Amino acid sequence: MSKPATLSTVEVRKQNRNRVYRHLIALPEPITKQDLAYQLSMSLPTLTQNMRELAQAGLIGSTGTTDSTGGRRPKLIAAIPDARYAVGIELTSGHIRMVAVDIQQNELAFQVLNQSFENTEEYGRRLLSLLEHFLSEHELKADKLLGVGLTLPGIISADQSTIEYAPTMGIREPTENRITAPFSYPHRLDNDATCGGFGEWWNKPNRENMAYLSLGRGVGGAILMGGRLYAGENHRSAEFGHMCIHPGGRLCDCGRRGCLEAYCSSARLSTDLDLTLDEFFAELQNGNESYQHRWEEYLNDLAAALSNIHIMLDCDVVIGGSVSQYLPAYEERLRAKIRAQDPMTSQGEYFHFCRNHSKTNCVGAAVRFISDFIETV
Ligand SMILES: [Zn+2]
Repeated sequence: MSKPATLSTVEVRKQNRNRVYRHLIALPEPITKQDLAYQLSMSLPTLTQNMRELAQAGLIGSTGTTDSTGGRRPKLIAAIPDARYAVGIELTSGHIRMVAVDIQQNELAFQVLNQSFENTEEYGRRLLSLLEHFLSEHELKADKLLGVGLTLPGIISADQSTIEYAPTMGIREPTENRITAPFSYPHRLDNDATCGGFGEWWNKPNRENMAYLSLGRGVGGAILMGGRLYAGENHRSAEFGHMCIHPGGRLCDCGRRGCLEAYCSSARLSTDLDLTLDEFFAELQNGNESYQHRWEEYLNDLAAALSNIHIMLDCDVVIGGSVSQYLPAYEERLRAKIRAQDPMTSQGEYFHFCRNHSKTNCVGAAVRFISDFIETV
C-alpha cells in the first residue's frame, strides 16, 4: 500500500516544481519569492523547496534585489533563459535555415545558407558540419543543446525512417531518410508546417484549438486540437495545400489539378514571374496592373481556403510561411473577401498572422524540444 502513496507524493512534488518553472519562464520580469508564492497560491516552504531544486539544476537564479524602502531588500528570482537551447533547421530545395532559440524562445543565432538538397548521407554529413560550425561560431555549448529539429516540405513517416513524399524536394515516392543518419545529437525530422504550427500553438496563452496554414514554396499546414498536435492516421494531416479549390484547374506539383498549392504557393508571386517576393510586392505597390490582377486572384483563392479550413475545424487559423509577412497590409481586403464568400462565419475574425513569418517553421522545430524539456522539469 505504501508504494502508490510514495509515487503520488513524488508526482505532486514534480507537478509543483513544473508549475514554478513554467510560471517563471512566462514572466516578463523577475519576481520576489513572496509574490511568486502569492501568484501560484503555494506555501512558502513548498515554494522554497522547489526553488532550491530548480536552482540546483541551473534553471533559475537570483537577479538582484528590489528597491524596497527600509529593511532587508527581497531578492528577485527569474528563469535563466539560456540554461538550455534548441536548434531548428529548415531544409528547402536550395537553402538551409538554422536558428537557435533559448528556453524563452529568444533567438540566439540565425543563419541562411545556399545548399542544394539531396537525400544522401553526404548531405547529412555536410549539414552536421554546418551545424557544428554554427554552434561554435555563436559559442553555443553542446552540453546545453536539447536537440535539433529538422524540417522539410514533405510527408515524413511517424518513425522518421522514410520521406514518403516531398515533390518540391524531388521525392515523389517513399524513400529512406538518409539525411539524419550522421547526426549524433538528439534530433527529429518532421514536416515543416507541422513544426511551424506546433510552435505557434505552443505560444498561445491557453493552447486553444488552432489550424495553421503555411504559404511558402509549398503550401501545408497543421492541426492542433484538444491540447495536442493531430498527426492523422497516416501522419499526413492538414495537407491543406492539396485541397482542391478549382476542379480541373492548374496542375499541381503533386500531379493533380486545382490544388490550393497551385494557386497560393509563393512561386505564383515570385519564381513563376522570375522575381523575388520583395520585388513582386514593390511592383504591386507601384501599381503594376498585371500583378494587381494576379494578387487579387491570389487573395480570392486564399479566402476560399481559409473559409474551407474554418468551416471544417471551427477554430482560429494562423497564417505563416514566406508570403505571410506581406499579408498584414492586405488584412482588411482578405477579411472582406471571406465575409463575401462565407456567410456562415460572418466577419472572418478567425484568421491571424504568425509571429515569426519566414522563420516560423524553423523556430517551431526547435520549440518542440523546448516543450518536451519543460514537460520533464
Ligand atoms: Zn496538389
